[in-house]
Amino acid sequence: MTADNMHPFDPDEAIRRLRQAVRHLPAPSMFQLRDRGFATLFQQTVACMISVRTYEEVSLPASIRLFEVAATPESVLGLSADQIDALISPATFHERKAAQILTIARVTVEQFGSALPCDEAVLLSLPGIGPKCTALALGIACHEDRLPVDIHVHRVANRWGVVRTNTPEQTQIALEQVFPSASWLELNERLVPFGKSICTRLRPVCSTCLLLDMCQQTGVRNPR
Ligand code: SF4
Repeated sequence: MTADNMHPFDPDEAIRRLRQAVRHLPAPSMFQLRDRGFATLFQQTVACMISVRTYEEVSLPASIRLFEVAATPESVLGLSADQIDALISPATFHERKAAQILTIARVTVEQFGSALPCDEAVLLSLPGIGPKCTALALGIACHEDRLPVDIHVHRVANRWGVVRTNTPEQTQIALEQVFPSASWLELNERLVPFGKSICTRLRPVCSTCLLLDMCQQTGVRNPR
């Protein structure tokens, strides 16, 4: 792509093309859980924590196994740490995560009457919950305009050239200046599968990419 046939980056057009590009790819696991009816703030928070440093192919079935046995904080408290551990294994750090799930369930019941509040500070105070999980959970369960940025969102946005950042946290702040707030959550929903299958870390599939004419391909070497 030469400078002559490049188009200025248009956020709305980018979202439209992303929808088209990922239409046959599985949605990120938190969105799949939402669509299966596991959309409470407690469920989204716990599921996101299970997914930390774990492939979605492992963490999604692990969360479903847990929620099919215990979908509420009260029912989770009826399980032992060993029972939770067995349900979420082989997620990474499953033993530690089992103990953290019990703690989150206990805090939810004892401090908030069985439903976590849509409060960023509360979520960030829970064990194993960082900024990305907080943004995802508040976006999906509380319908807040949130822009969760993982490594895929960070990489693709920098390749487009719309941000020049070094960390996902910086990318979140910069992308919020580029995209309208109504599209922030969808940006995560589309960019995660896009980054996993098309704009991959090594050898992205630029030749057939629907966003090629608006992408600066910053730092891309040896594309397909
Ligand atoms: S053109 Fe290449 S670098 Fe740009 S978004 Fe598409 S796959 Fe990624």
